[in-house]
Amino acid sequence: MSTHTVTVAEGDGIGPEITEAVLRVLEAAQAPLRYEQVELGAREYERGHTSGIGPDAWDTIRRNGTLLKAPITTPQGGGYKSLNVTLRKSLGLFANVRPTKSYAPFVASPHPGMDIVIVRENEEDLYAGIEHQQTAEVTQVLKLITRPGTEKIVRFAFEYARAYGRRKVTCMTKDNIMKHTDGLFHRVFDEVAAEYPDLEADHQIIDIGAARLAAQPERFDVIVTLNLYGDILSDIAGQIAGSVGFAGSANVGREISMFEAVHGSAPDIAGRGIANPSGLLVAATQMLVHLGEGATAERIKNAWLTTLESGIHTADMYRPDLSQREVGTADFADAVIARLGQEPRHLRPVRYGQQPRLRVTSTPVPRGVKHLVGVDVFLDWAPEDRDPDLLGKRIEAAVAPLGWDLKLITNRGVKVYPDGFPETALTDHWRCRFLPADGDATTLPDVLSVVAALHDAGLEPIKTEHLYTFDGERGYSLGQGE
Ligand code: NAD
Repeated sequence: MSTHTVTVAEGDGIGPEITEAVLRVLEAAQAPLRYEQVELGAREYERGHTSGIGPDAWDTIRRNGTLLKAPITTPQGGGYKSLNVTLRKSLGLFANVRPTKSYAPFVASPHPGMDIVIVRENEEDLYAGIEHQQTAEVTQVLKLITRPGTEKIVRFAFEYARAYGRRKVTCMTKDNIMKHTDGLFHRVFDEVAAEYPDLEADHQIIDIGAARLAAQPERFDVIVTLNLYGDILSDIAGQIAGSVGFAGSANVGREISMFEAVHGSAPDIAGRGIANPSGLLVAATQMLVHLGEGATAERIKNAWLTTLESGIHTADMYRPDLSQREVGTADFADAVIARLGQEPRHLRPVRYGQQPRLRVTSTPVPRGVKHLVGVDVFLDWAPEDRDPDLLGKRIEAAVAPLGWDLKLITNRGVKVYPDGFPETALTDHWRCRFLPADGDATTLPDVLSVVAALHDAGLEPIKTEHLYTFDGERGYSLGQGE
């Protein structure tokens, strides 16, 4: 049997207590693991590493490929970066996998039938962190959705569902509004779903989907979604399952994966020996399955389920009517160790067997035929009387000699010229859409001449977006009323 070397970060707050408990359980179960400890979090922030991680820890994590991470405390205030976001993005951890299950009737839960897995895209979307302010009144963020990134996460979700004996994968997007970004995610989902005829696939708009998840989580199985929606859905799911202390999460990349509890460092109870180590223990079982040690994961998880059934509960899950004995972190770990080899009688035992490594390919995207067909120029314009007709006429006069048409002006996406409504609220941020008057494809120098003409007319272009077609398909959304 080969031994896997795992990097362990014991984190802050309750981190060291729960890490100690989890490592004891792993050892008692004879998990074939060796550990290398690294420091992450508060002390590293204090040493001046603004992301909470130093160079040695990076080396160790990258060398070993597997990280078991206890929660860390993120310092308040400016200048500090989230360690989790840094780890996910730097190490290519593209999939965040959060199983959420109810353990009723042994742990109180409003949704006893809940057993879902949220697969959240982890690298893209609004979390790319590309934000700008270009006028006094308006800020913006760039939402990036890529075809390869989407294919990778969607394929991962289907492979996961198949490997873990799940029936259905639900995609959630807001593609009724964001037809290009969320629309791409939905389209790729439909394409990939066709390759998995043994699994049910459906799509729900995120708002109603989230509402249904909160009301009837038992209707869902695997959910795959974009980064921000997944962030919110995971917390909803964790909350309605019953206790924050139970959920583990895996952050999976091609070479490196990280496993952690969903909860934070709980500074309010740190050092008292009463924290529930279950979240990190469940994460450790996810890690074992990932490393191909399903049999050991199964032994630990079933011993843990048996412990829950026995009514041996930490303070966060203790209920006089459901629990037999309230224990601290170390005694809870001892109770799990004492039950290694046992199977739960009421809760369903887990069966992992030997999971294959999940296949996550993405198909090369053909370059296709791309034409530049126009440009959106954004202006900062804030005279006392913000009359869109005045702006429109001034722009038309500036670009007409170049053979370009001003197609429309929008303000926060609402058409204000031509034929706007006086009721529309106006900011200092104007999107002006230009198309060549002859309707043909254009060139970058021509686009630049439009921008220069606006500048020469005393206006202030702050940003441009080129309008392209791809194999004749429009690569931009139409303006309202266009
Ligand atoms: P938290 O999850 O630490 O605590 C919320 C509540 O749940 C607290 O009352 C806490 O006592 C309780 N709780 C959490 N885990 C528990 C456990 N295992 N057993 C028993 N009770 C438990 O969330 P918070 O208070 O918002 O955040 C505290 C710190 O943790 C912050 O600095 C935050 O940034 C950080 N945090 C880190 C991670 C991470 O490292 N992955 C995740 C979330 C929050």
